[in-house]
Amino acid sequence: MASDAAAITRDLIRFDTTNTGDARSKGERLASEYVIGRLQDWGYEPSYFEAEPGRGSIVLRIPGTDPARPGLVLHGHLDVVPADPAEWQADPFAGEIRDGMIWGRGAVDMKDMAGMMLAVVGSWKRRAVNPPRDIILTFFADEEAGGRLGSIWMTQHHPELFRGATQAVSEVGGFSVSLAGQRAYLIQTAEKGIAWLRLTARGTPGHGSAINTDNAAAHLVAALSRIAAYNWPVNLSPAVRQLLLGVAELTGLKPDLDDPEAITQLIEALGPASRFVGASVSSWANVTSVRVGDKVNVISSTAEATVDLRPLPGDAEAAIQRIKDLAGPHVSLEPIHLDTALEAPFDVPLVAAMRAALRQADPGAPVLPYMLAGGTDGKGLSRLGIDSYGFVPLRLPTDFDFTAMFHGVDERIPVDAIGWGAGVLDSFLLRS
Ligand SMILES: [Zn+2]
Repeated sequence: MASDAAAITRDLIRFDTTNTGDARSKGERLASEYVIGRLQDWGYEPSYFEAEPGRGSIVLRIPGTDPARPGLVLHGHLDVVPADPAEWQADPFAGEIRDGMIWGRGAVDMKDMAGMMLAVVGSWKRRAVNPPRDIILTFFADEEAGGRLGSIWMTQHHPELFRGATQAVSEVGGFSVSLAGQRAYLIQTAEKGIAWLRLTARGTPGHGSAINTDNAAAHLVAALSRIAAYNWPVNLSPAVRQLLLGVAELTGLKPDLDDPEAITQLIEALGPASRFVGASVSSWANVTSVRVGDKVNVISSTAEATVDLRPLPGDAEAAIQRIKDLAGPHVSLEPIHLDTALEAPFDVPLVAAMRAALRQADPGAPVLPYMLAGGTDGKGLSRLGIDSYGFVPLRLPTDFDFTAMFHGVDERIPVDAIGWGAGVLDSFLLRS
């Protein structure tokens, strides 16, 4: 199973499934045909759906031994973000092994998990075992562009495939971090929402030589300065609170969650993983694009900008109102894309099964929840009332900067982490 997982991961990396978010995307079809072929070789009968030509999702329901129990969606995605070979030390689409690592786009996001998922379900056929619950094994198209052609389309057009499922497992969690020299694992139980906003400033157009105190460009710049300078208040959700208290216990740092300084220290103690965790203590907005007139001596009537706002669970409405207030009276605001934040309970049997599988494979290592600042296909599944967890078990070397690998140059993963992860995933699913 371990060597299968690594071999399948390498095979999948060799399919260039780059998702550019537009018509230049390469699509998932060829990689999907490979996955379907593997599943069929093992005796499974997966289904395949395309929202647009070449943009495909795969679904396979593996019956559980206890039909009374609700199903579990185990999902991944086969698309990847672009990689510029000129920036890389290795060919991003060759799946090479160097220094014990598999190199390539998708090595951590998330052809590694796809390899682990497939190796595990393949081994079930050989071993003639079945999981306790129905497993709805799914590969969604288009995850890297928000899931319009994947999880959103599938849950709208084929909700029947997920009938009876109450929980889902996918990226991004289950990886190890080093805390005060001790290995610990983070399970993703929550993720922030998305509110992409367009801001339009309006003013009086005219000649650049005239005195103009109602200048759209100037209104927009002032609004964006206020938004960029705004210090979003810290508001700890249950998952983040539990994480930070766990970090305090393991490191001996002060567990004072009313003190912003103490919170910063606790986040920093997570090392490279602080990149993922840092943005989960508050809602936050970044200015991402600005478009104003194109002639130096013409004052244009409008000016536009986009803002990427990531609200905490329950804070979307208030956060959008905050942006409106900061933008001021000359600037109007409209949403480009809104998606929900997620928060699932940590003290449930599913997480206990994850903990038990980790405990068996890495005795004594603590397990903590965390909130992802980005978004996953879990948002699409939440429309069907399904709770999402991030659990891609990986035991990683202490000096390996895992979070930098996501969408990064020279993305790679230790070969033995994938083999270890497949074992833990198997043990978790059979206990779930
Ligand atoms: Zn991903």
